[in-house]
Amino acid sequence: MEITFLGTGVAIPQKGRVQSGVLVEFEEKPLLIDCGSGVLNRILEAGVRHTEIDTVLLSHLHLDHVADLLCLVKANWLMGKTDMRVYGPEGTEDWLFDLLGLYEYILEEVDVKVIECSPGKEFVPEGFDCEISCAAAVHSVPTLAYRLMSGEGEIVYSGDTEPCRDVLDLAVEADLLIHECSFPAGMKVTNHTTPSTLSDMLDEYRDEIGSLCLTHFYPEMRGHEREAIYRLKGNFDGEIILAEDLMNLEL
Ligand SMILES: [Zn+2]
Ligand SMILES: [Zn+2]
Repeated sequence: MEITFLGTGVAIPQKGRVQSGVLVEFEEKPLLIDCGSGVLNRILEAGVRHTEIDTVLLSHLHLDHVADLLCLVKANWLMGKTDMRVYGPEGTEDWLFDLLGLYEYILEEVDVKVIECSPGKEFVPEGFDCEISCAAAVHSVPTLAYRLMSGEGEIVYSGDTEPCRDVLDLAVEADLLIHECSFPAGMKVTNHTTPSTLSDMLDEYRDEIGSLCLTHFYPEMRGHEREAIYRLKGNFDGEIILAEDLMNLEL
């Protein structure tokens, strides 16, 4: 299983970080998690053909996680690839088809299927040898964390969330937890994570999760990266990684 961070930023532009997106490849077959602005171009930069992507998991519908999805559907359609399956939380179907409905010439020619998931749902995406399960994240809109389990390894993607038990429980015995870390330690925030709020909760899971990779950085995080690792190291036994756009991890 190869994991490529396509975008590790947020809704506010930053040099070197586009909005959210993670590509997971199973024996070269790619599955995309989230598709924020800038991700379509990063797919190319990662050396993957966008037409190979026909399965997308959305954590939630905030623009920094979905803005390039229609662009991906269009780019694929222009290249003759018309089928796509999109998994996401409640509301995904209305959101996607309301927008696609504004572009009837595309809608009429593509075969996009939306599968809405609720926390606790387990499924195997068509064409993959991988089981996926969902848990509820704590964010301002319905948000799902996903666990992807294949013979090659197991990873969890938190989506946007405050640190919460449902997401950390989902990550027990996973090889890798990709967790958002929007703001630096000590900042008072809701709906998002800081190294201090995560480390408080992580203590109980310190040896139950393989490695931890932080992503989804607001500009305020710049310059506080080492401090984030220092904070979390005290409460977590595994490796702690800071995601960068186009960084690769292999399981
Ligand atoms: Zn976000
Ligand atoms: Zn969000």
